[in-house]
Amino acid sequence: MAKQYDVAVIGAGAAGMMCAAVAAQRGKRVVLLDHATRLAEKIRISGGGRCNFTNLNAGPANFLSQNPHFCRSALSRYTPQDFLGLVKKHRIAYHEKHKGQLFCDDSSEQIIGMLRAECAAGDVAWRMPCKVGDIEKTATGFRIVAEGGDIDCASVVVATGGLSIPKIGATDLGYRIARQFDLQVVEPRPGLVPLTFDGPSWEAFAPLAGIALEVEVSTGDPKAKGKARAQRGHFREDLLFTHRGLSGPAILQISSYWQPGTPIVLDLLPDMDMAEELIASKNTVKKQLGNVLAQWLPARLAEGLLRANGFAPDARLADMADAKLRKLGDAINRWGITPTGSEGYKKAEVTLGGVDTRELSQQSMMANKVPGLYFIGETVDVTGWLGGYNFQWAWASGYAAGQSV
Ligand code: FAD
Repeated sequence: MAKQYDVAVIGAGAAGMMCAAVAAQRGKRVVLLDHATRLAEKIRISGGGRCNFTNLNAGPANFLSQNPHFCRSALSRYTPQDFLGLVKKHRIAYHEKHKGQLFCDDSSEQIIGMLRAECAAGDVAWRMPCKVGDIEKTATGFRIVAEGGDIDCASVVVATGGLSIPKIGATDLGYRIARQFDLQVVEPRPGLVPLTFDGPSWEAFAPLAGIALEVEVSTGDPKAKGKARAQRGHFREDLLFTHRGLSGPAILQISSYWQPGTPIVLDLLPDMDMAEELIASKNTVKKQLGNVLAQWLPARLAEGLLRANGFAPDARLADMADAKLRKLGDAINRWGITPTGSEGYKKAEVTLGGVDTRELSQQSMMANKVPGLYFIGETVDVTGWLGGYNFQWAWASGYAAGQSV
């Protein structure tokens, strides 16, 4: 005999646990299913083990989606302050690190413990580890074939996340369920991921692994308007040279906006107009180019940039024509480079794309054409910037569905 519940939540990650706790505390009989052996691995490894659990400034502008307005409703009904209220209720010490990012002082385990306690407060039933099989529509709701016996329920909430980090249990189940019920899925791709470079134009930079500096980075047409403007990324953050290319917050952020085959543009000294500076100091500074640039840039990077642009590092600034110095200024303030690829799902912090938001109600996260079927969290085509935004989406979308089921 199938076990009866009001709600089955598939995926006990950030969004799934939030949704289960909210629904159960409203008096619903909820079962939470997950195939993993360890609970909420992504929360555990997040924020370097301290979980950047929200961002005080989170708003729709910090999210990518084919419909940038979709997330507005859920985000406004469950805000960073609401989640912070929960954190304070559970006496978890936290601190603000950078640009509104909130982290646990001690460990991300505390956030997992908090969500588990909130589920317990509503008497959520657990099936974990549990293999989830077929889901079919019945006269009264859904039947889920699952390890430990079939489940009958009025509502199913799909919270299985994206494809990032397959080694800790990411699967495409959410997208498969969506397609089974004829819902469109925006093609998933890795986001918040290091970018890779190779070929002759990268040779001068390959030995620079380990160098870090603050830069401005952008992609897309700076003159774009309307929807194209919303699809253009622009960030000021740290850049890190790696053995295979570029990483660091600047690159992770821009990777979500980058389209394969197109360049990213780096401003390595965003507070200076390098061409102006070099031309103005030509008659007073007697140094070699490499030494001039090393005043502002790491010496090895200065040398790599000069070589990559056809300048000898020991050439004297005073001997350079203005036109050449303008070219060098451009190479520093507007360095356009085309990545060959990314490190992929193995290293991506999130998955872009997912269940098409046009298929879902922005109030409840329920599929418009399949009453009782909900999608929340990263499975949906809503992806946040780096900095606590993705968890805020998981909490807010989980809360929206938890209130509705
Ligand atoms: P998940 O948390 O991924 O949960 C999905 C759950 O579904 C998992 O428990 C999984 O086991 C289960 N599942 C998957 N497939 C199946 C299946 N077939 N059957 C049964 N169960 C299944 N975001 C931030 O905001 N701040 C951070 O500090 C941060 N740091 C991160 C660091 C790393 C290294 C990574 C990879 C991500 C980080 N993120 C961070 C992103 C954040 O972790 C995710 O956006 C968030 O966890 C998504 O929540 P979710 O509930 O939708 O999915």
